Amino acid sequence: MTSHSPGVWRNWSGTADARAVRFWRPRDTDEVQRAVRWAARHGLRVRAVGGGHSFTDCAATDGVLLNLDRLAAVETVEPQADGTALVTVGAGIRLRALGAALAARGLAMANLGDIDHQSIAGAISTGTHGTGLRVGGLASQVTGLRLVTADGEVCEADAVRDPALFEAARLGLGALGVLVAVTLRAVPAFTLRAREEVYDLDEALDALEGPDGWVATTDHVDMFWFPFTRRALVKRNDRVDPADGVPGLSPVRRWLEDELLSNGVFELTNRLAAAAPRMVPAVNAVAARLLSDRTYAAPSADVFVSPRRVVFREMEYAVPRAALRDVVAEVDRWLRRTREPVPFPVEIRFAAPDDVWLSTAYSRETAYVAVHQYHRLPHARYFDAVEAIMGGVDGRPHWGKLHGLGVERLSALYPRLADVRDVRARVDPTARFANVYTDRVLGPVA
Ligand SMILES: Cc1cc2nc3c(=O)[nH]c(=O)nc-3n(C[C@H](O)[C@H](O)[C@H](O)COP(=O)(O)OP(=O)(O)OC[C@H]3O[C@@H](n4cnc5c(N)ncnc54)[C@H](O)[C@@H]3O)c2cc1C
Repeated sequence: MTSHSPGVWRNWSGTADARAVRFWRPRDTDEVQRAVRWAARHGLRVRAVGGGHSFTDCAATDGVLLNLDRLAAVETVEPQADGTALVTVGAGIRLRALGAALAARGLAMANLGDIDHQSIAGAISTGTHGTGLRVGGLASQVTGLRLVTADGEVCEADAVRDPALFEAARLGLGALGVLVAVTLRAVPAFTLRAREEVYDLDEALDALEGPDGWVATTDHVDMFWFPFTRRALVKRNDRVDPADGVPGLSPVRRWLEDELLSNGVFELTNRLAAAAPRMVPAVNAVAARLLSDRTYAAPSADVFVSPRRVVFREMEYAVPRAALRDVVAEVDRWLRRTREPVPFPVEIRFAAPDDVWLSTAYSRETAYVAVHQYHRLPHARYFDAVEAIMGGVDGRPHWGKLHGLGVERLSALYPRLADVRDVRARVDPTARFANVYTDRVLGPVA
């Protein structure tokens, strides 16, 4: 095991850091077991970290920090009669490498978020999701797990073998053990036609709704609204047959729009906003005017994922879909009243109800509202205000994004949180996998 000790670890957005007594990069399951047992002998807590792309301190520890980048192999691929395949991978595999491995086998993830730097274990452990009413978040695509539990033993969990542990650990904030392998249901590779169009915000909110609305009729809808403007960019992605002949994007256009405008120029407008916060409404008006329509087709992962190089902080709440319009209106009112300098767009996505115990979309049709702030501008006032608005409609916070809720309120919002606590008390009675974040959101081990 490579050891960097003591090591300072910092997350992508700079909102969490930790000084671990040991920082290890185990090569296999055996080394993960040895690390957990070593920590137990020394009375230390253990956390695993993936890509460090969570905004919360969920991966932080002052004990033993394990990075599973080396557990990244594709173990097995089992084709199923319906064309899907059950794919077992090392839990540390990054989503980009997973996507490439699946594509090489004619497969793909059914849905993805908007980046692919995360590890599969980190992504499912915090409830990472994409958008689309026909498909749930990444954890809902998991059919089995292998984890190292607090006693250092290896445990397999799925719908048959310890189903309660499976339900808790497939979105378990790292609190049930160290995931070493994940089995996912992959789907046959597919092509998406992306339609990106600029609309008036109210027109777009109207068009989302109803049985013939975009949310119901589109596979994946993603919307970005620039504060202080009425302009929204709506991305509608639908599965198409590659033979339909929808043209792809030329590499030059992709670079120009996704790198230069969405990252290079966007970084500059954000720097301008940080230097002159009062200019933000004007800056946003210009940024929103730079948005333009485009339609193209590409393999699914190339449509879902885009480069996000401008560093930001994020809070995201899952609200009942019916509440979307009201919460957007309230956020808009608050921003206009306070003139809080926010150069980043608000993002709106959707998800089907699912049955994953700690899923933000557990048992309810969901709209996601994500607010972002440039890392050189203060985010606390904005995020506190948004959190209060979301609280009024029983919004559930994304586990990997900034929020201020504790176990009491979360227990009311997540009806199966008590079940997760029960499983945790059984498999980790000494709180080996606890940290400051799990103490806050799951409470002490009962
Ligand atoms: C630019 C950016 C874009 C994003 N886009 C989206 C998006 O589109 N949709 C969305 O839902 N989220 C999104 N996120 C949030 C992100 O997907 C989650 O925070 C995710 O957890 C990050 O994965 P990671 O591998 O970096 O995990 P980390 O942040 O490293 O860890 C997350 C949690 O998983 C635990 N963990 C990690 N590995 C293991 C393991 N092997 N066993 C047990 N526990 C483990 C950690 O202890 C921690 O609690 C985005 C984040 C950023 C920075």
